[in-house]
Amino acid sequence: MKALEVKGLSFSYSGDDSEVVHDLSFSIEEGEYVSLIGHNGSGKSTLAKLVSGLLGFSYRGEISVFGTVLDKKSVRAARRDIGLVFQNPDNQFVGSTVEEDIAFGLENREVPREKMQAIIDEYSEEVGMRDFLKKSPEGLSGGQKQRVAIAGVLAMEPRLLILDEATSMLDPSGKSEILSLIHRLKDKNASLSILSITHDVEEAAKSDRVIVLNAGRKMMEGTPKEVFARSEELASIHLDAPFAYRLASALRAEGIEVPSDIVDEESLARWICR
Ligand code: ADP
Repeated sequence: MKALEVKGLSFSYSGDDSEVVHDLSFSIEEGEYVSLIGHNGSGKSTLAKLVSGLLGFSYRGEISVFGTVLDKKSVRAARRDIGLVFQNPDNQFVGSTVEEDIAFGLENREVPREKMQAIIDEYSEEVGMRDFLKKSPEGLSGGQKQRVAIAGVLAMEPRLLILDEATSMLDPSGKSEILSLIHRLKDKNASLSILSITHDVEEAAKSDRVIVLNAGRKMMEGTPKEVFARSEELASIHLDAPFAYRLASALRAEGIEVPSDIVDEESLARWICR
């Protein structure tokens, strides 16, 4: 089953030929964690909004979510399968406490009060924020607010989680909090599908598959290993390969034999220590 399938998608905001997404096709299998990377303005956020039905249907091509083609009729049901986490943790915080914030979406879905508390407890626990349920957002770090946003989204039980630059406004510790949470969620729920829009190549290196977008077109697609091996092409669109790949490539250029399984800091450190 495909969680998401995009076929021949083209879109312009003005409706003329100034397209910001051009003839784009890709899919995400159920349970896959796919990163979409690209420089600013390459169309990543536009794509996230298109697949979530937030920009209407004035595009060419087709978008299917779990086998249902998006259109005016199907979009409401399809949106129930999608959970969206945005960049700015402050803009997403709608409650006056953590508890109210997680409850917000549940109230919209008219989940009965007596069921709601158990759901709030479960998902606040899941993201490690249960001790903060009565706290207001002011005292929370960016990473904590983003964890609350993720709890609110997970409480809706989405099958496809779309992270639109969800870590880009966080400091390094907030970023690693969110990334380890995402990996923990994936480990617990193998059928959860994730599309992460990011310009953090280190994050992308830990996903199942990477799609590189440039000026609204797909430039590369493959496993992190396949994509990040093409560091010169990435540099041509102002993207650096992750540190471990760059170092391995620099060492190879010096004639040092570096095994091909050097794909992250851990494998790099193990190899150096050997
Ligand atoms: P990214 O997320 O990769 O930075 P975006 O999808 O935000 O890229 O933007 C792609 C292009 O669409 C950019 O040229 C941007 O200026 C343009 N754009 C984004 N939002 C709008 C909008 N609401 N109206 C018109 N143009 C837009």
